[in-house]
Amino acid sequence: HAKAVGGGVFAPYRPRMRDGLVERLELESELRAALENGELRLHYQPTVDLETSRVIGFEALVRWPHPTRGMISPLDFIPIAEATGLIVPLGRWVLREACCQAVEWSAAAGGRPLKMSVNVSVRQFDRADLAETVAGVLAETGMPADRLCLEMTESVLMTDTEANLEQLVRLKGLGLTLAIDDFGTGYSSLAYLRRFPVDTLKIDRSFVERLGVIADDTALTDTIVRLGRSLGMATVAEGIEEFGQLAVLREMGCGFAQGYYFSRPVPADEAGRLFLEGAHTPA
Ligand code: C2E
Ligand code: MG
Ligand code: MG
Ligand code: MG
Repeated sequence: HAKAVGGGVFAPYRPRMRDGLVERLELESELRAALENGELRLHYQPTVDLETSRVIGFEALVRWPHPTRGMISPLDFIPIAEATGLIVPLGRWVLREACCQAVEWSAAAGGRPLKMSVNVSVRQFDRADLAETVAGVLAETGMPADRLCLEMTESVLMTDTEANLEQLVRLKGLGLTLAIDDFGTGYSSLAYLRRFPVDTLKIDRSFVERLGVIADDTALTDTIVRLGRSLGMATVAEGIEEFGQLAVLREMGCGFAQGYYFSRPVPADEAGRLFLEGAHTPA
């Protein structure tokens, strides 16, 4: 990766990892090895239906338990994976693993449908075969397409717009759902929302954090929920930590939520149990 040595092509690093090029290259080769050796793990955070307070599914979040550095956050290694192209095989692994689990847990719960959300990086759209990859994983795992949700950030709508639109239409054609993650933090125009076949808006945690405290954030959240409703899109609030935030979101008519208030992302065995128990939430 000679290009990387020239600088400027890596995504911004968080300060903790800003330890120089040697460390990055070391991490890159360690990440490649971790993926090949099956050392990456998925944690799962429940998604709660705010009408019924039930867990309807999970978001898969990748984890890297490093033998000497401890648990490395995806915020630290996803940028490395994106800069090196490793995100493509890593993304495929996440998708396959998450779909396998969803099929298994749903079967264990007598076939109760389980919605699984998987984060897809904008770099995975660089590959023209993304829809084929997803179709292959659905077929391999037996995951019903309509139970899979792919989450992407607004950057997918904003870069390579025409090519990505075509890819999204193909993905939609498989029968899955598409969500915009961290909605409200990017720069996508409202017109894009109409053009792209998006089903769900995930309201960024930064708005939810100050709900009921800062009037502007409360107004913006309300606006996103209304926007979703008028465009026929579902809304999911991210990062609920307190009952007060939940009450405000319910009042606004937000459909779904995630956050530490309900559950942190948990390892697979715990998530499977949660789903099996039917998991009525503390709300
Ligand atoms: P995201 O997709 O927006 O995921 C939500 C993040 O917020 C997760 O962090 C989750 O643990 C955290 N979170 C959830 N509820 C709360 C809460 O109540 N309070 C607070 N403070 N945080 C909460 P995590 O797992 O560290 O992931 C960070 C980001 O890394 C994700 O943001 C996503 O952009 C990326 N990521 C994670 N897994 C994958 C993956 O498999 N593929 C790709 N491309 N990106 C991933
Ligand atoms: Mg997400
Ligand atoms: Mg998010
Ligand atoms: Mg986020």
